[in-house]
Amino acid sequence: MAYQVTNPYTNQVEKTYDNHNDAYVESALTKGHRLYKQWRKESVEKRAKVLYKVSELFTEKAEELAAIITKDMGKRISEAKGEVLVSAEIARYYAEKADTFMAPTAFESRMGKAQMVPHSIGILMAVEPWNFPIYQLMRVFAPNYIVGNPMVYKHASNTPGSAEAFEVLLKEAGVEEGACTNLFVDYSQVNQIIADKRVQGVALTGSERAGELIAAEAGKNLKRSSLELGGSDPFIVLEDANLNEVKKIIGQARLYNAGQVCTSSKRFIVTENNYEKVLAMLTEAFADAKTGDPFDERTTLAPLSSLKAKKDLVKQVEKALENGATLAYGDMTKNQGDDSFFHPVILTDITIDNPAYYEEFFGPVGQVYKVKDEQAAIELANDSNYGLSGIVFAGTQERGAEVAKQIETGAVFVNSYGGTLPELPFGGVKRSGYGRELGEPGIEAFMNKELVVVR
Ligand code: NAP
Repeated sequence: MAYQVTNPYTNQVEKTYDNHNDAYVESALTKGHRLYKQWRKESVEKRAKVLYKVSELFTEKAEELAAIITKDMGKRISEAKGEVLVSAEIARYYAEKADTFMAPTAFESRMGKAQMVPHSIGILMAVEPWNFPIYQLMRVFAPNYIVGNPMVYKHASNTPGSAEAFEVLLKEAGVEEGACTNLFVDYSQVNQIIADKRVQGVALTGSERAGELIAAEAGKNLKRSSLELGGSDPFIVLEDANLNEVKKIIGQARLYNAGQVCTSSKRFIVTENNYEKVLAMLTEAFADAKTGDPFDERTTLAPLSSLKAKKDLVKQVEKALENGATLAYGDMTKNQGDDSFFHPVILTDITIDNPAYYEEFFGPVGQVYKVKDEQAAIELANDSNYGLSGIVFAGTQERGAEVAKQIETGAVFVNSYGGTLPELPFGGVKRSGYGRELGEPGIEAFMNKELVVVR
């Protein structure tokens, strides 16, 4: 796959990049391994200072970086800026927490004074997707930089501009050469990197298919791995939910980033009494979406990341309709053009034998289900191959929290929009993957907690 910037708004190829050869990869691994050895002798303080600088620089250059993201994958410029600012927050969070997270934990043992001492494990290979091209990299880089694991990364082939800019900015902030290297490599080179004995972990965010292949390579080589994969998150509205609150977020929950978010709400599960009202709210939010140039602040719905992504989604919706779903809102004729815009649609009457029931729709498609009561809502939410995140609207926080406990997923947000923050661990169960990024679990993912016992 060629590394190419194809502006999704114009569908014009703006820049093509050459792949890196094996000698370049070898040099990145040599530098990374040298740093790993050196960092093991150094305190974390120095790296924390550099990470503060990274945070400052990403904040300062937010507009510039946002424009690169928008050209790469088409998201709205304000969303791109938000992504960069959250990434800067992630860097600052791990810089601030460096001492706490890297401190040994002492405990009593019959054998003597015991401690768990955090250590690095070696180079980490990251394989990342295009939908949050800067944030995804920072989610892996910042905690591993503090731990002392150098990183090499293979970014999505359609976001090379972001891949390159990330590396350049880190260098400008003072991150050492070899600490985080961008590699424009193909899949077989990724496998060679995973097999290299200097590489001790692999983190993937992407599709289930990529997850299966990368996890198999990691397993074959006995390397630690984490997988952040897809989701078909439920948005549950119970009979006593405050619908004014639902209305405030329902559109954003599905349409943010043109619906291309692993944790966006994809299945709206609503009790009978609220069904028509919630369907009307989602319809209104979808009807209000204004497509246009993602650089224009008036645009509220950006194109999808590529023409191919749009065509794939069109086929998926057509298949759902052929299998008996009802098009409750939208006009599929508007989605036939040779542009990357997907005009939102709502699907209802999706039965269990419809392929759509178990699929992830990565774009502005809402599935709405009517259920009898709380129990039926929980059962439907759990009848999914995925388990990444979810939203529950209930009359009280307590009831929402009780329902949350019964949902098989990595996270639940009660009566609120589920965003991302540096301190909130992120990850899933079932086919959404395993492992966590962000928060304290995020820094522990590729850490060796060495047991030291002193008599
Ligand atoms: P994808 O095709 O799996 O691509 C993700 C990354 O994996 C890209 O860098 C891709 O490279 C690479 N890749 C794919 N197959 C590979 C292989 N066999 N060996 C090595 N690298 C490989 O994912 P996508 O469809 O573009 O992204 C959307 C998916 O990611 C959705 O399912 C979404 O839900 C999920 N996602 C999950 C999270 C999360 O945190 N859980 C966050 C964002 C997105 P190329 O571009 O060169 O193919």
